[in-house]
Amino acid sequence: MGRIIIPSEEDVPRTADVVIIGGGILGAATAFYASRAGLKTLVVEKRDGLATLTTTASEECFRAQFTEPENVAMMKASIEVFEHFAEHIGIPGYDISLHQQGYLFLTNRPDGLVTLRRLVERYRQAGLDDVELWDEREVRKHYPWVSEDVTAATYRARDGWLSAHELTYGFAKGSSAIFLLRTEATGFVMDGQGIKGVQTSRGLISTRNVVIAAGPFSGVVARMAGVELPLLIVRRQKAVIGHDDLIPQDAPMTIDINSGAYWRPEVGGAALGWAIDEDPTPPMDSVPVDWEFAAIVLNQVKQLAPFWEQVIARLTRDNVYISAGQYTITPDSKPILGPHPEIAGLHFNLGYSGHGVMGSPEGSRMVVDMMLGRMKVEECPFRYTRFAEGAGRPSAEKLVI
Ligand SMILES: Cc1cc2nc3c(=O)[nH]c(=O)nc-3n(C[C@H](O)[C@H](O)[C@H](O)COP(=O)(O)OP(=O)(O)OC[C@H]3O[C@@H](n4cnc5c(N)ncnc54)[C@H](O)[C@@H]3O)c2cc1C
Repeated sequence: MGRIIIPSEEDVPRTADVVIIGGGILGAATAFYASRAGLKTLVVEKRDGLATLTTTASEECFRAQFTEPENVAMMKASIEVFEHFAEHIGIPGYDISLHQQGYLFLTNRPDGLVTLRRLVERYRQAGLDDVELWDEREVRKHYPWVSEDVTAATYRARDGWLSAHELTYGFAKGSSAIFLLRTEATGFVMDGQGIKGVQTSRGLISTRNVVIAAGPFSGVVARMAGVELPLLIVRRQKAVIGHDDLIPQDAPMTIDINSGAYWRPEVGGAALGWAIDEDPTPPMDSVPVDWEFAAIVLNQVKQLAPFWEQVIARLTRDNVYISAGQYTITPDSKPILGPHPEIAGLHFNLGYSGHGVMGSPEGSRMVVDMMLGRMKVEECPFRYTRFAEGAGRPSAEKLVI
């Protein structure tokens, strides 16, 4: 069982096989796979708890509907883990509040059916053959509340959402790692071999392996090792509406594929979001919110699901909650996983570009497998060197959710 502690002086181990910097979902998942592989694993987290920065701001959704094979493979493998999570971590009955109510991408374009048919074919070519293509009649048969304007949709039943908090703590509890809270990594010690230790606010920890999983702060941490990562940090907001009988609780994650606005049921109400273009900002420990965001996203989602008009009409301010976090975006919107090519012992698990909850099991497994030589770095499509090799160009994937 992993130990999650605010350490006193004597609690801080002075050596480890691997030190993971960051206690969000990616740090916890990395700790799980590393400690399961027999490595003495430490996680340092500067905040008071695990999963309290970006992970808690997430919409907590997962999907395999991607058009690039490496993304499809990563999400399919991760979804398998979600489906058998208690067994995977070895804690019988452990509940991550898994909701496989599907992902529904809607369009109201006149040529919607033709466009989505092409998209489904691309999913199939990328290795995903269980996406359904629905015409307007079929969409309304399943979900009578969609607008008459909707012309077509894609739907995949095994997509959905879960509790990112429980997922993080499940990985932590299922590990045998030690999680040191209120402990900040402040620098690296290196020698001719590469990484030799991590400087922290609680002193030096000697180790030959470090994994940077510091979310939006990953670039800041990498810079301490003299490495400049190609990351953009961009704010994203989430609106949560409390209970309202008009919000169908059996609805899937519902996305307007043209605007990118989305919503899904959440304990009697709904969680909504929209990746509105914003300028990059520095990483933040506390991300500000705009109250207008709720009105903006509600006005958008009502276009394809008119029942929202009535919800909006009777919505009171005390039934709306806004939160925000930051996406850590790479040039091709895919994570950076595995070792740095020149600094031995420096590994990355970061840059998921808005998909870090859904990709956490498989991405973290790959990071650990590369560290242990069980996976060849050149076979990992998410390796750091892809940018220097001329790959890693901007993705054709839409950065929705
Ligand atoms: C609004 C919004 C919606 C999203 N929706 C989804 C979604 O539906 N599905 C999905 O898969 N993803 C979603 N994401 C993205 C997802 O939340 C992230 O990809 C994921 O949480 C990243 O996890 P992480 O562990 O890297 O980062 P974090 O959760 O940010 O954890 C990083 C940790 O590192 C710590 N840290 C930083 N620097 C140091 C240091 N020097 N020393 C010690 N600790 C340090 C931080 O305190 C932090 O706790 C969403 C993001 C946002 C903002």
